[in-house]
Amino acid sequence: MDLKTSLSQLSGIGPSLSYKLKKLNLETVEDLIYHFPFRYDDFSKSSTIKDAQLGQVVTLQGEIWSIANIYTRYGKVLTQAIFNDGTSPIQLTWFNQPYLTKQFKTGDRLQISGKLTQYKNKLSIMAPKWEKIEDRLQTLHTGRLVPIYPETEGLTSKWIRTKVSQIFPQVSNLIVDPLPESIKGEMLSSSESLSKIHFPQNYKDVEKSRDRLGFDELFFVALATKKARIEWSRKPLVKPLTIAENDLNRFIEELPFTLTSAQIRVLWEIISDLKKNQPMNRLIQGEVGSGKTVVAAIICYLVYKNNLRTLFMTPTEILAFQHYETLHNLLSPHGVTIGVYTGSRKFTKNQESRIKNKDPKKLNSLFLPLDSNPDVIIGTHALLSDTLNTKDTGLIIVDEQQRFGVEQRTFLRSKAKIPHFLTLTATPIPRTVALTLYGDLDLSIIDELPKDRQKIKTYVVPAKKRDDAYNFIKKKIKKGDQVYIITPLIDLSETLQSVRAATEEFERLQKIVFSQFKLALLHGRMSSKRKDEVMKSFREKKIDILVSTSVVEVGVDIPNATVMMIESSERFGLAQLHQLRGRVGRGSEQSYCLLFTDIETPQIVRRLKNLENIDDGLKLAELDLKIRGGGEVFGTKQSGRFEFKIASLSNLTLVEQTKNAAQKLLLTDPSLDKHPLIKAKLESLAANVMPD
Ligand code: ADP
Ligand code: MG
Repeated sequence: MDLKTSLSQLSGIGPSLSYKLKKLNLETVEDLIYHFPFRYDDFSKSSTIKDAQLGQVVTLQGEIWSIANIYTRYGKVLTQAIFNDGTSPIQLTWFNQPYLTKQFKTGDRLQISGKLTQYKNKLSIMAPKWEKIEDRLQTLHTGRLVPIYPETEGLTSKWIRTKVSQIFPQVSNLIVDPLPESIKGEMLSSSESLSKIHFPQNYKDVEKSRDRLGFDELFFVALATKKARIEWSRKPLVKPLTIAENDLNRFIEELPFTLTSAQIRVLWEIISDLKKNQPMNRLIQGEVGSGKTVVAAIICYLVYKNNLRTLFMTPTEILAFQHYETLHNLLSPHGVTIGVYTGSRKFTKNQESRIKNKDPKKLNSLFLPLDSNPDVIIGTHALLSDTLNTKDTGLIIVDEQQRFGVEQRTFLRSKAKIPHFLTLTATPIPRTVALTLYGDLDLSIIDELPKDRQKIKTYVVPAKKRDDAYNFIKKKIKKGDQVYIITPLIDLSETLQSVRAATEEFERLQKIVFSQFKLALLHGRMSSKRKDEVMKSFREKKIDILVSTSVVEVGVDIPNATVMMIESSERFGLAQLHQLRGRVGRGSEQSYCLLFTDIETPQIVRRLKNLENIDDGLKLAELDLKIRGGGEVFGTKQSGRFEFKIASLSNLTLVEQTKNAAQKLLLTDPSLDKHPLIKAKLESLAANVMPD
């Protein structure tokens, strides 16, 4: 057995278990030993019944004196045992585990852990954890800090714990520490840290393991982004763009509004990149509505003035068409031509004339045939297709980059010869985090909203006020406004199940709650043609309520929509909810966001209530970071850019420390040839950040 051995090859793991393991992304031995506990139950305090206090969690060693199943009136089964550790008898009770009477019998010696309580005047432990004392030296499931793992149905922590304890000793000597002594310092070695994360003696062990494992996670990310940055800076030189300032000023003056000072600052940060002979690689971060697209449009114009083309890549077709309209309005008065290229519709001259005959207006207003060589091509990942001629591309803009796969970005970069690269994101990423996760990019932040923007009134609505909320919505619609209802959806990749949930909720709303209004459903599994139709009808006010999964999250702009109701809002991060509510409040009317939750615990309500008062996406992201601390919150997990199991991005000392270590290492050994282990490990990560 080695680290790469497939778990399915191990004895006792058949297809059914393999399948369950896959659900936890566990395929190899290495995956399993890197599957870390997320907490520990402290059963380390061994004690006797006589000395134990009521309410205390205890670990006891003793004997089963009797055991039997009892069937209750309600069809439940209780297993009750009398257990004695030599100081006093107590009663143990388990629920619905009748098979326990087969697993141990009177006279067996057990070690049990659980909370000592009093039940019907008897000292009891309810549902204790148990383990037979045989001839094992060390107990695994009781009497110690017991690791609790992420589980899935049919795959318990107990099972995982047992397997890890069998497998780890067989491979621990194969785990080589990639860090040189100079970096490792006082930290545990790789193999020690893995051993102690699974089998700690005490919390000090846990802490030390987490320190080391967390260090590695951040260190390799810092190294990867740093190295990518160095490599990017070695890219062949490009011809600096000429910035025609007169044209630029005229363009800005002709905008229907005045740019915010943040927009102007960021615009000039980009311009100074374009004037250099090194390709730009910059990330613009700004919340929804902060005016990123407008800035991007100005840049497209400047690139066009240099006789170069811009590719503008969007994560969804809805956004491609919406950006088309925005850019068309802004750019076509200045002579810039724009084309849309998506998977479902590409237009050649032939097709164009055919469609023109049917509906000439529509085509003219939406698409430009690609063989007419538009100056700006907007599209989804279909832009990656080989048929597209991207010879004179001077700029690639990627909107909402975290939705794109790494390979796709890399491909885009390689396709057009070293163009400038600009990424837009509305995901508010705290600066410190951005510097780590996106350390390979220069960062520009639009941290100001246009002046006339209204605060969206946000309320966490208790379940008992649901009808009031529905009535409020009805009133708004009668006034002519439109509404979003976001239905539960956990995954970004929409599963069939969540689609079904959305569909059911849609039918309930249409038939029962809002029967007098027009509703439509939008979800990611619909064909893009259908999605476009729905969005179009919504925009044209043929629909009052758009019931949607979170596919409306990014960039959709319909000013007449003034109410957003979000179901199961506890499933989202605060920053993500903030982004969602950014779909309303886009016109001059006061807008509202109503948050519902399935789980009204004080803790969840308190977390959500932050949205009532805080209006700043970045602040909310920082709160997310504090409350939940990590990868998932920023969508990094989904993107596969990096995954953090242990490291908390809110641990700023660690962030700093790893960044410095990475920097130092690259200074002394830029190629990493002297550190082959680090180099090898980096290669798997680097695919996520390296420009081709
Ligand atoms: P983002 O892409 O950051 O979500 P957009 O560029 O789409 O933002 O801008 C959102 C809306 O605000 C658009 O309708 C746009 O025309 C408008 N807008 C952008 N900048 C300004 C500004 N400085 N003042 C007023 N309105 C603006
Ligand atoms: Mg946008």
